[in-house]
Amino acid sequence: MHDENLGFNSNAVHAGGIDDVLGSAVSPIYQTSTFKFENADHGAKCFSGEEKGFIYTRIGNPTINELEQAVAKLEGGFGSVATSSGMAAVNTVYMAYLSSGKHLLAHNSLYGPSRAIMESLYPKFGVESTFIDATDIKAFEAAIRPNTALIFLETPANPTIGITDIEAICTIAKTRNIPVCVDNTFCSPYLQRPFELGADIVLHSMTKFINGHADIVAGIVVAKTREHYDKIRPVMVNIGCNMDPHQAWLTRRGLKTLGIRIDRAQENAIKVAAFLEQHPKVDWVLYPGLPSHPQYELAKKQMKGPGAMISFGLKGGLREGKVLMDNVKMALLAVSLGGIETLIQHPASMTHSKLSAEAKKAAGITDELVRLAVGIEDVDDIINDLRQALDKV
Ligand SMILES: *Cc1c(COP(=O)(O)O)cnc(C)c1O
Repeated sequence: MHDENLGFNSNAVHAGGIDDVLGSAVSPIYQTSTFKFENADHGAKCFSGEEKGFIYTRIGNPTINELEQAVAKLEGGFGSVATSSGMAAVNTVYMAYLSSGKHLLAHNSLYGPSRAIMESLYPKFGVESTFIDATDIKAFEAAIRPNTALIFLETPANPTIGITDIEAICTIAKTRNIPVCVDNTFCSPYLQRPFELGADIVLHSMTKFINGHADIVAGIVVAKTREHYDKIRPVMVNIGCNMDPHQAWLTRRGLKTLGIRIDRAQENAIKVAAFLEQHPKVDWVLYPGLPSHPQYELAKKQMKGPGAMISFGLKGGLREGKVLMDNVKMALLAVSLGGIETLIQHPASMTHSKLSAEAKKAAGITDELVRLAVGIEDVDDIINDLRQALDKV
């Protein structure tokens, strides 16, 4: 069923269509690497693009295609390109828009590897990059160079929950014809739709909210227009960072419940953030749903809800953070986010431990920072777990 007027949750369930050759309510998994042609002429036409037909799974596959159509629909884009992981999506965008002598501009609190590869891998291909504070729009604009070929944003940022004004930056970028890509992983299209704010490309680690069950690593790049789609798709096909059909099928299944999972996790997060904010062992809480968040108004403007990611500072620092990590019982001590289970992690001793003190400071990672990805469990159990662990700090 395709209807322009369906709501978000209806599209989450139905978009992309169902391949119901035998009446199946759910599309089958086309677990195949290759596809038969009817005859030589058909094969030639498939390759030339004269006829639509599947050729080889790295190039395209019905199961992957259904997921791509569904995510494009939910983001409001022209089309999308599914990838083997979120980092494959990031690299696909970097390679599609950057080349020797070009420059990438991004804010400094990007997902660690998205920044690290720009600083360690891409310079050998002659690509330059700048990472600066994007809360100061004027300074951000001043950092644009004549060779800036891509602006890359991630909001809310991981793990600082810093929020970047997508619309303000897209307005500046438009006057200079620079494409803007938004990593929308923390929100999913349910809470934030960057195309409506002027972005040209959106990407996701579908490992997080879109699949939502912590059992898949996957990514996707969504293009607003055919022009962008045609630039992105061949890069994925030729690098070979395609999804696997089974991975696509599981991700499509997870996507069906995206709205209700986020509703529940967000409802829990609002209560958990309020609990943490009044706790004597907690120094500060950063959550877009709290008026104490420095960009509370901006969050309300560009996001449909505050989401399920919370950062907070423990009084003390490194040692106290480790004690908290070692004492939580229900929350899993694990990286990642956006799944049904509550996850907790301490960036200074875990994800960002390899960064230099200077790089940590620039990315806003302090010793007391704890990151909490709130799940869909009973909120009293989440709060009781945190309370008993905080008691031991
Ligand atoms: C996890 C994550 C990625 C990378 O995705 P993978 O699926 O782990 O490769 C990129 N951006 C953000 C914001 C993420 O949280």
